[in-house]
Amino acid sequence: MKTVWEKYDESSLNKLMAFNEGYKKYISVCKTERECVAEGIRLAKQYGFKDLKDCIAGGVSLHTGDKVYYDNKGKDLVLFAIGNEPLETGMNILGAHIDSPRLDLKQHPLYEDKGIALLKTHYYGGVKKYQWVAMPLAMHGVVCKKDGTCVNVVIGEDPDDPVLGITDLLPHLAAGQMEKPAAKIIEGEEMNITFGTIPAKEEEKDAVKAAILTSLKEKYGIEEDDFMSAELEMVPAGPARDYGLDRSMVMGYGQDDRVCGYTSLMALLDGGCQEKTTCCVLVDKEEVGSIGATGMHSMFFETAVMELMELCGGYSALNIRRCFNNSNMLSSDVSAAFDPTFPQVNEPMNTAYMGKGICINKYTGSRGKGGCNDANPEFIAKIRDVFEKEDIAFQSGELGKVDCGGGGTIAYIVAQYNMNVIDSGVPVLSMHAPWEITSKLDIYETYKAYMAFISKM
Ligand code: MN
Ligand code: MN
Repeated sequence: MKTVWEKYDESSLNKLMAFNEGYKKYISVCKTERECVAEGIRLAKQYGFKDLKDCIAGGVSLHTGDKVYYDNKGKDLVLFAIGNEPLETGMNILGAHIDSPRLDLKQHPLYEDKGIALLKTHYYGGVKKYQWVAMPLAMHGVVCKKDGTCVNVVIGEDPDDPVLGITDLLPHLAAGQMEKPAAKIIEGEEMNITFGTIPAKEEEKDAVKAAILTSLKEKYGIEEDDFMSAELEMVPAGPARDYGLDRSMVMGYGQDDRVCGYTSLMALLDGGCQEKTTCCVLVDKEEVGSIGATGMHSMFFETAVMELMELCGGYSALNIRRCFNNSNMLSSDVSAAFDPTFPQVNEPMNTAYMGKGICINKYTGSRGKGGCNDANPEFIAKIRDVFEKEDIAFQSGELGKVDCGGGGTIAYIVAQYNMNVIDSGVPVLSMHAPWEITSKLDIYETYKAYMAFISKM
C-alpha cells in the first residue's frame, strides 16, 4: 500500500510545504492565548471579517455572505461566515483551544537571594517540570495598570533580546536529586526564573531587585505592585523550526493545540461562506479544565451565537436551541502519536501515527471512557464519506492503551448543546514538552479535512 507521502506529487508537496511555512510563523509569534486571538483578528480582517460587537453597537443587520468575529476578553475568538441557510438549520463548527502548558509568574513573583533576582512561577497545565529547566525561556504577557492601560511584554524572542530560564543542579552534586522520582526531581517551588544580577548603586538591601525594578519602570512603565494584575507566561524562547533531515516535521512550542487552532482558523478564512453558516471557535483554559470566563464551560460561545442570530433576524430561544441541535462540530485537539521509542503505552491497532493524516477519536476519557464524549456512529459515517470523497488522509485512534492513562478535550462541553461533535486532530510527539513535534503532512491534511468538513457536512 502506498503511504500518504507517496500520494503527493511535486505541486501538492509544494502546497503542503508552503502551508507549513505559514503555520511555523503563526506558532512562532503566537505563544499565548491573547497573542493567538490578536493574530486571528489581524488575519480575519484581511479576509473581510468585521467585528460583531461593532455590528451590535451600530444595529447593523447581517446577511448571507457576511463574515464577523467575536472577541471574548482578548482570550477567545469566535468567527462566523454566514451561509445561505437560516441559522436554525445548524452550523458547521471547528473548535480548538489556544492555551498551552507553560509557567505563569505568581502575583508576587520578584525577590532577591544572595545577589540574584528571581521570579516565582506556578505552572499551568500538565507539565513534566524537569523538562523546563536549563533551557532558554521567553516571557510573554500583559501587565494591567490601575489607570486601565495594559502593557504588552515580550522578552526573549528577538535575537537581540536576552533570554531567561530556570537553573538545574550540576550532576556533580545531584546524587540526592537523581534518587528522587521524576515528579520530584524539580519541584514546583524550585521553578524560579533567574532574572538579573547587577545591583543598583548605593542600595543597602536587595540592590539587584531594586535595579530590576528601575529597569522595568524605564522599559515598561510598571511598578512592583503591577505584577498583581499581570498575566506573564514563561514559554520556550525562539521560533518553530523544521525537524528531521528531510524537513518533514515541525518542532514548535504550544502545538497542543495551536496546530488545530491554526488549521481551523485558516480553513474558515479560506473556506469563506458556504451553504450552512460556518464557525470557528478558538478557546482558552482547556489545559486547566475549560473553567473560568474564557473556558469552554463559560457561556461566551452561546452568547456570541445569540448575538449573531439577533442581527441575522429570526432570534428566539427555540431557534438558538435548534441551531445548536442541528450543528456539527469537530472538537479539534491533538492526538498522541505512536512513538517507536515508547511502544508500550499504545495498542497499535487503535493509535494515531505520524504521516497518516488527521486522527479521529470517537471518544477520549480514561478508565472505561470516563468523562468522554462518545461520538455517534451515524455522524462518524458521514464524516468518513466526506473525507473519502475529498481524498483526505485520515485515521482513527485512542489516547493510549486501555487503563494506561487518558485525557479530555472540549468535546463533552459543547456536546451539552446536543450537537454532533467528535474529537479530531493532528498527532503529536513529545506532547506537552516545551518543544512538540508534528508531521507537516498531518498538518496539511488536517487543514484540508477542516475545509471539507465546513463545506460538505
Ligand atoms: Mn489539547
Ligand atoms: Mn494538552
